[in-house]
Amino acid sequence: MAVINTEGIVIKQFDLGEADKIITFYTKDYGIIRAVAKGVRKGKNRLSGIVLPFSYNNITVYQGRSSLGRINHLNNIYTFTKLREDLTKMAYASFMAEIVDKVGLESDPNQILFSLLLASFHKILIKESEEIKYVELAFKILILSILGYKPEIKQCVSCKNEILKISTKKYIFDIKYGGLLCNNCTRSEYTYNENRDSISEGSLQIIETILEYGIKSLDKIIISKRQYEELDRIINKFLFYHLDLKLKSLDFLNMIKDLG
Ligand SMILES: [Zn+2]
Repeated sequence: MAVINTEGIVIKQFDLGEADKIITFYTKDYGIIRAVAKGVRKGKNRLSGIVLPFSYNNITVYQGRSSLGRINHLNNIYTFTKLREDLTKMAYASFMAEIVDKVGLESDPNQILFSLLLASFHKILIKESEEIKYVELAFKILILSILGYKPEIKQCVSCKNEILKISTKKYIFDIKYGGLLCNNCTRSEYTYNENRDSISEGSLQIIETILEYGIKSLDKIIISKRQYEELDRIINKFLFYHLDLKLKSLDFLNMIKDLG
């Protein structure tokens, strides 16, 4: 039996039998770990009340032959209480946790992904409701980059020529090929294509800043309503085109956005 000590964020949990729960962690050193929290629902276990959704913890897990381990010890590093108490924050945190659950792998750590989730949760915590959507947008752009779908905004995805930026111009973003098309390549193909969308220079700069500085870039950039709508439309198409994601949390998130 292996003993695993690491840091883990609770990204999913469900009930097992009458007293237990199965917890999915995204961990710093091992990627996804699934483990049973014995007796937590009966309140008889020292884990009761501290295995919390979205919490960031030091964990010790006993791992037998199966991929399902058993939590031996857990202590909260950060509880992220507001992510459970505020419905808007909860909707965004659920969406991000579910994406990490879908794209994360067992026994295959990705510390950039781990840090992104942790940094995003911290940002959701401190941002006002109307600004959390920018955290989600940056999270999606960075997830694409981590998974090998970094939006190509410097050179043409077809001919590889550098795209010269002129501030007044609109550019063509090709979802399928994952980036900008130059004028020549746009013209040489049939112009109508549902996988193409126009994007402004300002929006391209926002993508570039987010890719360069990560989630903390949100402290220094200002995103207009028009830029946000343009970017969110393109990034959503891009994300769902390349990643086969069926997300339970998406309806909840869209409902919260409609209310807001
Ligand atoms: Zn080209």
